[in-house]
Amino acid sequence: MCEFTAKEGDLDLRFTPSPTAAEGMEGHATVAARRGAGYQAELSLSADVGPLRLRGRADGFDATRGRLEEVKTYRGEFDAIPANHRALHWAQLKVYGALLCRQQGLAQIELALVYFHVDKQTETTLVEVHGADALEAFLALQVQRFADWAAQEQAHRGARDAALQALAFPHGGFRRGQRMLAENVYRAAVRGRCLLAQAPTGIGKTVGTLFPLLKAAPGQRIDKLFFLTAKGSGRQLALDSLSMMARADGAGPLRVIEITARDKACEHPDKACHGDSCPLARGFYDRLPAARAAAVQAPGPLPREALRAVAAAHAVCPYYLAQELVRWADVVVADYNHFFDGSALLHALTAQQGWRVGLLVDEAHNLVDRARSMYTAELDQATLQAVRREATGLPKRALNKLHKAWAALAAAQPADYSALAQVPDDIATALQQAIAAIAEQLAEQPEGIASALLNFFFDATHFARLLESFGDHSLFDVTRSTGGGSALAKPGSVLCVRNLVPAPFLAPRFAAAHTSTLFSATLTPTNFYTDLLGLPADTVAVDVESPFEARQLSIQVARHISTRWQHRDASLGPIAELIGRQYAQRPGNYLAFFSSFDYLQRAAALLAERHPEVPHWLQARGMAAAERDGFLARFEEGGAGVGFAVLGGQFGEGIDLPGSRLIGAFIATLGLPPLNETNERMRERMAARFGKAQGYDYTYLYPGLQKVVQAAGRVIRTPSDEGVIHLIDDRFARPEVKRLLPGWWAAPLR
Ligand code: SF4
Repeated sequence: MCEFTAKEGDLDLRFTPSPTAAEGMEGHATVAARRGAGYQAELSLSADVGPLRLRGRADGFDATRGRLEEVKTYRGEFDAIPANHRALHWAQLKVYGALLCRQQGLAQIELALVYFHVDKQTETTLVEVHGADALEAFLALQVQRFADWAAQEQAHRGARDAALQALAFPHGGFRRGQRMLAENVYRAAVRGRCLLAQAPTGIGKTVGTLFPLLKAAPGQRIDKLFFLTAKGSGRQLALDSLSMMARADGAGPLRVIEITARDKACEHPDKACHGDSCPLARGFYDRLPAARAAAVQAPGPLPREALRAVAAAHAVCPYYLAQELVRWADVVVADYNHFFDGSALLHALTAQQGWRVGLLVDEAHNLVDRARSMYTAELDQATLQAVRREATGLPKRALNKLHKAWAALAAAQPADYSALAQVPDDIATALQQAIAAIAEQLAEQPEGIASALLNFFFDATHFARLLESFGDHSLFDVTRSTGGGSALAKPGSVLCVRNLVPAPFLAPRFAAAHTSTLFSATLTPTNFYTDLLGLPADTVAVDVESPFEARQLSIQVARHISTRWQHRDASLGPIAELIGRQYAQRPGNYLAFFSSFDYLQRAAALLAERHPEVPHWLQARGMAAAERDGFLARFEEGGAGVGFAVLGGQFGEGIDLPGSRLIGAFIATLGLPPLNETNERMRERMAARFGKAQGYDYTYLYPGLQKVVQAAGRVIRTPSDEGVIHLIDDRFARPEVKRLLPGWWAAPLR
């Protein structure tokens, strides 16, 4: 209750080294053991106050001295304990004091906050004496604040549920396929199941999933709906759909917020998140209640810009305001990592608050790679070298030891890339010792530590955490670089905990949700996604019918061309001829996809030479937003030319070029990931975990074909579009490849 009602002062996210849970418990036991006879540890207190029943356990009561104690463990400097933490500790102790005065009829009481240093085993005690009346008034104020909020939340929930029950589908009727999708999402929510829905582009998946889950929320007592996306464009679509529903019907009371990354929301990127540095952190909790009230009363969804305006009006940080508002929101629109990564806020709050949540995972085929990167960490020897040179004292000695163990490990590897079956003990131990040594220095001089060392500390901590959960879902690999003979590049190595199968990390996340729907145009085959994402055993898979007809799309397989690595040179001529011929037959806008920039550039150069009449433009490496827009702007209505792009890159999915803006695509290669040491180790691991046949398919074939189908999906966007797709490689005619292509595609493939 106090955490909610009594927070005040600055936001302070300075790093403070905190004791572990075990150290905390030990510290409490040590303090209790030091007290004399008659000291009551763990004193239970309870009372009915207004509409609330309060229960808690004070750390100790010395009846002889009339002193009630609350013990807090810490490490580092006493003065570094943030003031807002201390304010909360006092609030908690005052509430206990009020309850004890009630219980024992005391007129006044001595309250003692005991701060116990877990390393030095010393106590710093702050004492205040309070009268029962003052404590009772303090208690009444906290209860009042909490009860007001609870009543308001209850009223909101009632209004929200009534509005959702009355909510009508925002468009006149469902599109073909959309109804089937919506019914399956609703059914999954009612049964508390996970749904894997493959649904083609163009049926309106965002509304087709949001609407049924919102409708199911009142009956299923769903507290919150999390719409999770891989990209910002998906978030915008969801927010637009929610705005439309709010406008079109009675979903007005629905509270919708967007959560963004800190670097996108921060107003003072040059400052740190505490009151001494950032003006929006100073007094944050004092201004938060008014900012929160304004936010929850705002009509319609609160996307990033709207939240920014509310935050600016109340001079609070927009990033942390959004985090605070999660507790108030009915729908949160956010990136995947806010629910799935190791320290995800939405998941942590769901577990802590016991919320019943519904998940919608947009473009879910991206989750495999995104989750792998969430549970992968790298450490670079060059960084270690740099920080160890600057470090002093205990950290320097520990980092030297780590350097020695690391150098020996790298030297012992038979090749420049090695994947190890186990994490070497001496590396794990040396890393832990380095982390502990830096933590100790941080505790003693939090401001005086170099930022490079601090960054290394955070990276090393993340790395060590993944080492603790290391298993056959991940690789531990060492990549040695010789410096390439350059005078500037230093020889060194990179250590990586590389996640291959995110399932063990994601399974508890899906289990924490009442219902989840993962949807995308490419979720074939089902077992690839259920195995890698750790979906529950009773997950339902559905393949939603396409709104498009086979006659809209002509599929041509160029069986006379091989795009295998060794045949690349020979493939360039036939590919240029194919593009030239198709363009002459039907001039218009085309996309041509290749597996690499090199392949793309060579194919484009040959096309220019042999068919100078065909206008063309190329994707370049690392295109900025303006360049990306420029590339897409060339696909004009009624225009003609060929845009060359990389398969699996920024133009391979998520772009919408309806009508004559795009009338065809050429797809050279099967998009298979490159054959290299890492992928080969992945193949072995997949075979060992999921079966021999799955080794190749899970590593190469399925990820490759998923990119092909996504790229091909750019051509037909509406029921009136017509187009052609050239699949350039003889392997597209193989049965095991054909079965991975969309069922509605034209007959020549069957
Ligand atoms: S504005 Fe930026 S620096 Fe300031 S508290 Fe917010 S995130 Fe931190």
